[in-house]
Formats: sequence, C-alpha cells, structure tokens
Amino acid sequence: MLSGILKKEDCASCRFCCAFKRTSLWEVPVFTKENIESIKQNPDLDSSVLNVTESDGYIKATYDLSSNYKTDNPLEEAPCPYLGKNGCILSDSEKPWDCKIWPLRVMNKDNEKVIALTPTCPSINKLDINDVKTYVDGIRDDLLEYALEHPFLVKEYRADFPIV
Ligand code: SF4
Ligand code: SF4
Repeated sequence: MLSGILKKEDCASCRFCCAFKRTSLWEVPVFTKENIESIKQNPDLDSSVLNVTESDGYIKATYDLSSNYKTDNPLEEAPCPYLGKNGCILSDSEKPWDCKIWPLRVMNKDNEKVIALTPTCPSINKLDINDVKTYVDGIRDDLLEYALEHPFLVKEYRADFPIV
C-alpha cells in the first residue's frame, strides 16, 4: 500500500487488497525478475507458487489462485500466498510494485499511460481527492518512468477507475 498517504492502522484492519475474488484475479500482483530472484534467495519463502514466464524480453511472475476457492460463492476471497498473520511477509525487494503503489494503478488509456485510483480501497476514498492528486503529482514522474521500464506492469484502463 501507498504508505506516503495511507495509514498503516487502516490497512491492518482491512487487507482487502491482499485477497482476491474470482472477478478480481486480473488484479493479482505481477512480480519482476528482481522480485523473483529476491524471493528465491529467501529460504523462508515459497517461490514455487510463482508462475514465471518470459515475454517480449521481460521475465515476470504471478500466481494462480483459481483452485484455492472452497465454495461457489462469487464473494469468496482467496488470499495472496504471501499474506501472513500480521500482513505481508515480503521485504521491500521481494514485494511487487503493484503492491507498493496500491491503490494507485498505472494504466493504458487510449495509448497513453494514466495514473488511476483503485475505487475499491476504502481508505483512499475517505481522503480529499485534491490531497491525493497533490501527493500523486509528487511521485508521478517516478511512477511513469518505472512503468516505461516495466511495461508488463501496466494494466488496461477500466472505466470505473478515477484518473488522478
Ligand atoms: S484496500 Fe486500501 S485500506 Fe485496505 S489494505 Fe489495501 S490499501 Fe489498505
Ligand atoms: S505480495 Fe504482500 S502486499 Fe502484495 S498482495 Fe501479497 S500479501 Fe499483499
């Protein structure tokens, strides 16, 4: 989560973004080559959950939660394999960028990269949108530069995501 603008206490009682409904599986985080290497070097972490692929010269990974659901309830959530009792168990180098910048998303809209807010985060929705925009302005160039270097992390734009 975006620690520069969200409070740790809010996230500790929420953890919404570390578990996924079937309809949200497109949102599972994508791990970069550097994340994968760090995770593999950590004997306390299970790297076998990561499906590593290479495409367009980029190595990336994600995980498949589709067989982790225990019911047919569409609201059931399957937790990220790296969610521990006290939150995420990954270190900074192991944690995906998707998670570090959540609830922000860099998205492709009409062939341009935009920064958008994930509308389902309860904490970000309580903030003044102008404060959020001011915060984003301070990191906008860094976000867009990272997205340019890692194009596989950029999601397609969704209409309900407010652009900031
Ligand atoms: S959804 Fe928002 S409030 Fe909840 S854990 Fe994620 S960043 Fe924190
Ligand atoms: S990697 Fe960590 S922050 Fe990201 S979804 Fe999993 S538990 Fe949450």
